[in-house]
Amino acid sequence: MARLVMKFGGTSVADIDRIRNVARHVKREVDAGHEVAVVVSAMSGVTDQLLKLCETAAQKRHLLELREYDAVVATGEEVTAGLLAIALADLDINARSWQGWQLPIVTSGVHGSARILDVNGDELIRRFKERKEVAVVAGFQGVHKETGRVTTLGRGGSDTSAVAIAAAIRADRCDIYTDVDGVYTTDPRVVPRARRLDKVAFEEMLELASLGAKVLQVRSVELGMVHNVRIFVRSSFDAPETIDPHGNPPGTLICDEGEIMEQQTVTGIAFSRDEAQISVRQVQDKPGVAAAIFGPLAEANINVDMIVQNVSADGKTTDLTFTVPATDYQRSLDTIAKAKAAIGYSRLDGATDVAKISVIGIGMRSHAGVAAEAFRALAERSINIRAITTSEIKFSLLIDAAFTELAVRTLHSLYNLDSATA
Ligand code: ASP
Ligand code: MG
Repeated sequence: MARLVMKFGGTSVADIDRIRNVARHVKREVDAGHEVAVVVSAMSGVTDQLLKLCETAAQKRHLLELREYDAVVATGEEVTAGLLAIALADLDINARSWQGWQLPIVTSGVHGSARILDVNGDELIRRFKERKEVAVVAGFQGVHKETGRVTTLGRGGSDTSAVAIAAAIRADRCDIYTDVDGVYTTDPRVVPRARRLDKVAFEEMLELASLGAKVLQVRSVELGMVHNVRIFVRSSFDAPETIDPHGNPPGTLICDEGEIMEQQTVTGIAFSRDEAQISVRQVQDKPGVAAAIFGPLAEANINVDMIVQNVSADGKTTDLTFTVPATDYQRSLDTIAKAKAAIGYSRLDGATDVAKISVIGIGMRSHAGVAAEAFRALAERSINIRAITTSEIKFSLLIDAAFTELAVRTLHSLYNLDSATA
């Protein structure tokens, strides 16, 4: 017997038929003797609709009250939780729905993007034991301890709800059912020979997730890493009855690296075209200049990613290049221009037609020369590298956006990630 969290995203609960399909997935695990807590998202499109309603209601948009926004958008998940409990009852399964405040799932008070502080799983465990009851929990929501008001966790937050609940009830595994059957070595739309990974270490998944593999909310992976919750990404589109609950269904396990026996040097390649490059030319080469540039950007809530500074030849001035999300490009330029007096530079250059390619693998810790191979392979394709950053388990390259697909394919083959068939 195992204790499981089963999380179903919006496309998996898109209509009543799909919700019935979910109920059958749950029934399979219950029949196998497992204790189950289900976490659900809103039916697909519903959160967007609710969001639209809020925006329409708030004529003076800047006054949109985030506490009431949360009160509205949190209802999407409540509907799904109730409907699934009904569908489970239809299959003669003892189940009840839970809203965040009822457990409670206690969060910070940052409405719209609250953080989970504590989840009380005691009552769920008691009911597993005493009533064999399945819990159906509304994802994405919680309650602020001080004010008692409903909060939400940010878009995609149900993944984080699921992992937090798994930690609270000490689940053996947190199954994330979604519309893909796992995590791939790269985006299969760009590289048809991308392979599904059997296992990925938490650290690698953090890099893959934050670099554009949009399978999981990044915070759910952070939480899984902290509490060592094994997360299994799998498809809800496989017919429930064809799956052996004791077998090895297709999917990707995100787990501690100690659980991964056969470690490849490179696990995956992520890429993002939503990048912009900014170069600050001839800044004074003296203490405090980096702070003068990045301080105002941080205050403006702009996420700076790659940072490259040259060593100046004359000891007087240097160039500083960094990347920001493309959507923040103009705001970044304005912010720096405003701080020009404090920074002291000659010129501001930038480009938005750039892409960041990241090569990720914990095996890199013990292998030298992994990046050098990439430089050579890209040079052979005449792909110019604008900036490079490295860390222990990844390196990232900034290139012209036009070469994104070629670069990803080249590196995917270079590191032997291509599947034998395509
Ligand atoms: N329903 C929320 C959203 O669409 C949360 C989630 O699905 O995870 O972002
Ligand atoms: Mg999602």
